[in-house]
Amino acid sequence: MSLRNGKEFLMIPGPTNVPDEVLRAMHRPAVDIYEGPLLETTDFCLKGLKKLFRTKGKTYIYAANGHGAWDAALSNTLNRGDKVLVLESGRFAIGWGEAARVNGLDIEVLSGSWERGVDPASLEDRLRQDSAHEIKAIIVVQVDTASGVWNDIAALRKAIDAAGHPALYMVDTIASLGCMPFEMDAWGVDVALTGSQKGLMSPPGLSFVAAGPKADKAHETANLRTNYMDWTFRQGPEHYQKYCGTPPEHLLFAFRKALEILFEEGLEKVWHRHALLGEATRRAIATWSGDGAIHFNITDPHARSNSVSVVRISEGDVAALRDFTKTVCGVTIGGTIGELSGKGLRIAHMGHVNAVMLFGALSAIELGFARLDIPHGKGGVQAAIDYLSEAL
Ligand SMILES: *Cc1c(COP(=O)(O)O)cnc(C)c1O
Repeated sequence: MSLRNGKEFLMIPGPTNVPDEVLRAMHRPAVDIYEGPLLETTDFCLKGLKKLFRTKGKTYIYAANGHGAWDAALSNTLNRGDKVLVLESGRFAIGWGEAARVNGLDIEVLSGSWERGVDPASLEDRLRQDSAHEIKAIIVVQVDTASGVWNDIAALRKAIDAAGHPALYMVDTIASLGCMPFEMDAWGVDVALTGSQKGLMSPPGLSFVAAGPKADKAHETANLRTNYMDWTFRQGPEHYQKYCGTPPEHLLFAFRKALEILFEEGLEKVWHRHALLGEATRRAIATWSGDGAIHFNITDPHARSNSVSVVRISEGDVAALRDFTKTVCGVTIGGTIGELSGKGLRIAHMGHVNAVMLFGALSAIELGFARLDIPHGKGGVQAAIDYLSEAL
């Protein structure tokens, strides 16, 4: 028997739910790329990105997914053979490091764990040893969607400063911008990047990079620069140069609408909404953990992301559980990936998600636990309700 008939829910950590207004913004004919509404849209998006990243630096838009933004950040600022220190805390900084290696960079991984955030003290130690300043860039993710970790970007900056190290500090905010606080300038981030399809509620296909003054300076001599990614070309006088060719018009109209929605709500409120939904999810997970088969992947409660929760399930059939929530209840829940593949769930609560969607997803999971005899503490959804009844 299936109860799937009704609106389908997508609760995976990207791509995420696209608001109807954002979808509608794309439903229009293509327009001239040399004059008219597109120029103003570009201007709005580039300025809006500064507001999102909280920077006075330059912003760039790429017709590419997040992997494209990774390439853009590296190629615009570094030289062939430069050493890049990759701060491990899950899958994605490692992936960025793999891209760096293919681009001709020399990679060193500061080993970390999939269960914890990057440790500022071990970063400081490593940088102190590098007295010759061979490390030219440090790359890290703010939220890793594979492990569910939130890294303390400000604390890592303090560690870099404490070691007196001049490396460029580059942060991937693909799974956190528009979900959790990010302060590019105040936190001393030199390059920040993100994608359209997670907290920013837009279709996949756009990514964004912001560069501060130190990154601009490095750009002047960077020899990894490529024609398509090049910041200098994209700063040129013609509108098409901003995209190095035809702008991805419909995606831009969509993204502009998403920015308008975010700014209308106000970024602080957006962050607070994510904090409430994140904590409600954690209350449910904590209750389910009662029986020992279910637990948080991230051991330190302060390092758990408000945009995605990663849950490990040590007994029972996780594939059957995800199949149950999808085919019987109508909600797609993320599965774990990488070294956690098949071992748990990634419950996304990022972007265009409201309380009904979250309660629905948590309820479907709890029903699945009961139906498939996965040992769990009962009353997870009630715990989420109890929390919100106090916190709202
Ligand atoms: C999703 C994600 C990526 C990859 O983005 P793509 O658009 O799939 O290339 C990179 N980093 C983080 C932290 C992500 O969550």
